Amino acid sequence: MIFLDNAGTTKMFDECVDIHRVFSCEKFYNPSAMSNESLKIAKLISETEQYLLKELDAKEGNIIFTGCATESNNLAIKGSLRSGNWEYVFSEGEHPSVFNVAKKLQLEGNIVHIIKLNERGQVDLIELEKVLNEKTRLISVMHVSNETGAVNDIDKISKLKDKICPKAILHVDGVQAFKKIPFSLRKTSVDLYTFSASKIHGPKGVSALYVKNKNSLKEVFQGGGQQYGLRSGTENVSGIMQFRKAVELIDTDKNYQNVAHLKELMKQELKYVDGIEILDFEGSPYVLNVVFNGVKGETMLHALEQNGVIVGLGSACSAKKAGNRVLEAIGVSKEKVVSSVRISFNAYQTEEEIEKVSKIIVEVYKDIKKRMM
Ligand code: PLP
Repeated sequence: MIFLDNAGTTKMFDECVDIHRVFSCEKFYNPSAMSNESLKIAKLISETEQYLLKELDAKEGNIIFTGCATESNNLAIKGSLRSGNWEYVFSEGEHPSVFNVAKKLQLEGNIVHIIKLNERGQVDLIELEKVLNEKTRLISVMHVSNETGAVNDIDKISKLKDKICPKAILHVDGVQAFKKIPFSLRKTSVDLYTFSASKIHGPKGVSALYVKNKNSLKEVFQGGGQQYGLRSGTENVSGIMQFRKAVELIDTDKNYQNVAHLKELMKQELKYVDGIEILDFEGSPYVLNVVFNGVKGETMLHALEQNGVIVGLGSACSAKKAGNRVLEAIGVSKEKVVSSVRISFNAYQTEEEIEKVSKIIVEVYKDIKKRMM
């Protein structure tokens, strides 16, 4: 099976599997207990926190480990809410774990601005600048779109915040960016940054939230007070150690070059085929949207799977719903949206694999079209 849905999840590194055994069967101690073995585990978590802060190139701050990026996003947003006449800013491109929180806040009577996307799928900075003001409490935008690969300019968004509302909190959902595109937090004024293990060949069930100032965030559920009181509950020690291993194994720049090459290769193989259209948002090389005119994306997905290829239909969380909110927000016609699939690469795929899979995609499409005539 050739897997081209890597924005949904990734195959875990073998090295992470080995770590799982160590921290589940040998060093399985609870980091909050009092034994020396437990203290050693707590120290390892603390070292991992420092390691990840370095990877993010953050000047200061802490890392809170969570169970998934949905949880990190919810903690970031709900933990930043304050009573009073505050305003909250999101974009049309957000993942449901942010977008649906924004919609709920709106329904509850808060002032919520949802910024439009430009034709390249990025947050429209002119509109963003217009809505920001001294009442802005939180700006939550994604770094790289899971649907289109569009990359938001976090440096520019930081500068807008600094200029207009320096006290506002800037949260960035970096799930599709972390260890995929080169980035440093140091130059930005990002306060909260979500990132996840399962998209970078680490385990499912462990994600993180970078928190610049832990006193500015409130917990969303109460408990034993672990992780600075911001995320009570026993830490997923094995998951955290596997997450670190995955981060250690990834060479972001090298992988970026390889994936950019693979994406270009596939574009060349597909773009001259009658009926196939590439939707290129000139963003992250990890994501490519392809329209198969006259055939439903869903039909392509199932036919491809029968031929040994797995692709995606946008966010797994929204794939069961008709259409694609994000593509439609960019202005892609409903007809094209229905005929589109999301192809997402990983950096360890080879030229041969991509050439082979491109040929399968073309054959499957031509075969379906022929049978429709
Ligand atoms: N944010 C982005 C950009 C994502 O791509 C995803 C998942 O695909 C999430 C958040 C949610 O991740 P999880 O399913 O781990 O909660």
